[in-house]
Amino acid sequence: MASPSTDLSRSVSRIVAGKVVSDGAGVKLNRIIGQRDFDMLDPFLLLDEFHSDQAGDYLAGFPNHPHRGFETVTYMLAGRMRHADNQGNSGLLTPGSVQWMTAGRGIVHSEMPEQEDGLMWGFQLWVNLPASDKMTAPRYQDIAAERIPTIEPAAGISLRVIAGRFGNVIGPVNGIATEPVYLDLSLDSGTSIDVPLVQGHNAFAYVYDGSASIGIDADAKSVARGELAVLVNGDHVHIASGDSTTRLIIVAGKPLREPVAKHGPFVMNTPQQIIEAIQDFQSGKF
Ligand code: FE
Repeated sequence: MASPSTDLSRSVSRIVAGKVVSDGAGVKLNRIIGQRDFDMLDPFLLLDEFHSDQAGDYLAGFPNHPHRGFETVTYMLAGRMRHADNQGNSGLLTPGSVQWMTAGRGIVHSEMPEQEDGLMWGFQLWVNLPASDKMTAPRYQDIAAERIPTIEPAAGISLRVIAGRFGNVIGPVNGIATEPVYLDLSLDSGTSIDVPLVQGHNAFAYVYDGSASIGIDADAKSVARGELAVLVNGDHVHIASGDSTTRLIIVAGKPLREPVAKHGPFVMNTPQQIIEAIQDFQSGKF
């Protein structure tokens, strides 16, 4: 690759390690965003990685539960997950596919593994909605693996564009208020890439295999598997592989800068709206 330009290259302001938690009916997760020490990166409210070949870590799944006021994004690397909601929608998430669910005013759904053994690996990201969209009608974008463009920007580099754009390649997710970028990147050892990002949008990289060097020259930081790097100030980020193949997701979005009132699966702007969400859910209005 050409040597990176230095002037507007983002740097790493913080590296966050995930915490192992249990959620749903007992699913083991690495929680990166949404933990006590890193409760959000506006507009991102939560990032979980699930990665296990031990059925006991995932079989219990996520039985019926509500959401209101934000979006859940599930990206599968391995394994199969069945999604079903209280409106009669159902779908199967298979390896390489993504579901971008805009919960809006409310849905009740389940997310259950459709396998009894083998590897289950992927991510769930929660993306906040602006106040004006929190009570919008629910919407699903279920995107099969083959609809996600996979490009080779340079030898030894593979990049999937799930949302946003990379050069002229545009991801299939559309119409999202926070104008998200969601890229899945694989770098062979000895390669590097500059990834453009919109200035002023919040961005992170999460390394899920190998390790990466992020930033330029003396400013570069080493980011290990299971760690998230917050990327600040600039219109691109320079990423170099570690000693082996490096795999990471890069996610960016427009910060909302609005008040956040959070209670479990409800994310609104005020405590009163949380009370209303709980009442609406309990009285079957979702
Ligand atoms: Fe859910």
